Amino acid sequence: MSSLRFKVIEEAIKRKATVVPPPAGRPSEYFGSYVFNQEKMRKYLPKKSYEALLDTMRNGSPLDRETADSVAAGMKQWAMDLGATHYSHWFQPLTGGTAEKHDAFAELDRTGGMIEEFSGKLLSQQEPDASSFPNGGIRNTFEARGYSAWDPMSPAFIVDSTLCIPTVFISYTGEALDYKTPLLRSLSAVDKAATAVCRYFDPEVKKVISYLGWEQEYFLVDEGLWAARPDLMLTGRTLMGHESAKNQQLEDHYFGTIPTRVAAFMKDLEYECLKLGIPVKTRHNEVAPNQFEVAPIFEETNLANDHNLLLMLTMRKVARNHDFRVLLHEKPFKGINGSGKHNNWSLGTDTGVNLLSPGKTPADKLQFMTFLLNIMMAVHKHNGLLKASISSATNAHRLGANEAPPAIISIFLGSQLSAVLREIATSKSDDVIRIDDKAAMKLGIAHIPELLLDNTDRNRTSPFAFTGNRFEFRAVGSSDNCAGAMIALNTAVAMQLTEFHEVVEKRIAAGETKEKAIFEVLKTYIEASAPIHFDGNGYCDDWKAEAARRGLDCETSVPSIFDRMLSRQTVEMFKTTGVLSEKELHARAEVKWETYTKKIQIEARVLGDMAVNHILPVASRYQGMLLDKVFKLRQMLPGDKAEKDAALDMDLIEKISTHQVEIQTLVRQMVEARKVANKIENEREKAAAYHDTVASLFDAIRYHIDKLELIVDNEMWPLPKYRELLFIR
Ligand code: ADP
Ligand code: MG
Repeated sequence: MSSLRFKVIEEAIKRKATVVPPPAGRPSEYFGSYVFNQEKMRKYLPKKSYEALLDTMRNGSPLDRETADSVAAGMKQWAMDLGATHYSHWFQPLTGGTAEKHDAFAELDRTGGMIEEFSGKLLSQQEPDASSFPNGGIRNTFEARGYSAWDPMSPAFIVDSTLCIPTVFISYTGEALDYKTPLLRSLSAVDKAATAVCRYFDPEVKKVISYLGWEQEYFLVDEGLWAARPDLMLTGRTLMGHESAKNQQLEDHYFGTIPTRVAAFMKDLEYECLKLGIPVKTRHNEVAPNQFEVAPIFEETNLANDHNLLLMLTMRKVARNHDFRVLLHEKPFKGINGSGKHNNWSLGTDTGVNLLSPGKTPADKLQFMTFLLNIMMAVHKHNGLLKASISSATNAHRLGANEAPPAIISIFLGSQLSAVLREIATSKSDDVIRIDDKAAMKLGIAHIPELLLDNTDRNRTSPFAFTGNRFEFRAVGSSDNCAGAMIALNTAVAMQLTEFHEVVEKRIAAGETKEKAIFEVLKTYIEASAPIHFDGNGYCDDWKAEAARRGLDCETSVPSIFDRMLSRQTVEMFKTTGVLSEKELHARAEVKWETYTKKIQIEARVLGDMAVNHILPVASRYQGMLLDKVFKLRQMLPGDKAEKDAALDMDLIEKISTHQVEIQTLVRQMVEARKVANKIENEREKAAAYHDTVASLFDAIRYHIDKLELIVDNEMWPLPKYRELLFIR
């Protein structure tokens, strides 16, 4: 009898929503109360330091030692007023999560007592003993230590009683060991390149900002049920489990009424987020049962990304207070939707113009077209890299399955914009001197409406969709650091805009008007980027064949997809833009392969252990019961009658044997494949071996286990079933 499963089910069913005390005041009152934002800076810093810090935040000017000391003193005072006792540099190692090491403010004074101290030096830079973070070989030399350095663009915040300071994490030789460093470099690259292009339209533009609004999908599972599933606990997904008879086919979960226990969790989560300055706004049920989404108001990309990481940490913590576990894995359950993290992305100027919004005047529209087409070119040229940026062992289950998005990057524009592109492609710019209404007609941009939002058809099957005033990169995984995708995208766009600017400048130098030069170059882009433009259904098999014909990257093996990080084109792009050196890229690719291998290795071990220790014994026991029954029937009944009555049981007995033999054989094969793969030294080859010879056995093993689940007595089955994991809430 499987007592644990029934015990946790019983407990889960009885659980009531946790009562959360109502927040103190309105959101506008407690928003950012745990953030050292401008309001706190003004209050806690001397005027001179406040202004110096603002200048650093706005213009990146370096902070002198004296100011840093003064800022640290103010921050410490503020943090202590809120009960903080410790501080920590908070950084984003290549593990994909965040890292922190807490130190107390306390120092001994010279008279045997203690004082609270926090200096500008400790605020600005630290040397975490971080030799065991993944570094892809960069820090293997004995003197290559790493240090973390304050990123003043992202404000400090307090979690529990610790003052957290967002930092970059770099080796002493200057190589990035984290996600934030290249993200910041990519943001400055796109700023520089886009600003130059914007000045064709408005000489007043001084800065272009990249914006990110992520939509975070997740599952909630009752904590007791979760703990009774070693696979969920150790790998974040179910490695086995037959589909529930009812799952999402009635489409009754999406936007449905939020279950009470979940609503309590969400309210609690939102309160905690708002205090941390994360502007969460939207919450709803997602498509799959027990799947939900939270989304904020979009922000500048660096800050938005810090906020997403902080959200994921906060979700995990808050879920525990509600006896839930939050699953951020891309595909926790087979047969129902997985989770993504749509990255809504746009570029805007310091003059307040969204460059992905068509705008009113003909000049605005040409500017919009300029950015749209340059982005299309960038995504086309680097579609393989963009796919690599969102690929992982976990996201692989979601990509390529029949749900958003497919494993081929393409751009959805919608019928209106597609029509405009066709018009532009055949228009004439011969006598265009000024961009006015007449010119707009001639150029074919006159028909772009000021607002595309309401006109955009929605295409859920596109991995990169234009949604009216932004692009939505939907292929990003739910557990990922958004920076991976944002670094690739912003850098690709920066590179492309720089090339565009150069070509236009050449044409102007050769005597063309600015308008004609821009327009003629854009026209060539329509044709050049056409292969990436696809408005159809990304799930259908025809598209795969068509995409291959168009020369798009159709690779599906994750270790091979990572090769794109080291292609000549990628290396060149990152080098020219100054975002990542070749050495840094190699290190990152190594880490990707290494992480892939480790994840598959863990899954293989868990799957093997569960098959052998959980499933086979239970199947044997049930089979024993059937054998016992057949034996007794044969003892009690006359021959013919006994055989007739035992026929179906004999059939089950044989089926169980077949599945058991298959499981045993496949598990043994998997263990052998692991042994062979483990001997491979080269990280890429090892990951490829894990992909080709280990992960490739998972489905077959699972198939036989899931068949046994349908046969074996429900009372004996040791693992909470899909219907329990997905419908108890
Ligand atoms: P959906 O209908 O796709 O669920 P929402 O309207 O909920 O989209 O918005 C999704 C996210 O897109 C939100 O975080 C929102 O703030 C963000 N967003 C809206 N406009 C922009 C923009 N111009 N740039 C970047 N993100 C944006
Ligand atoms: Mg969306």
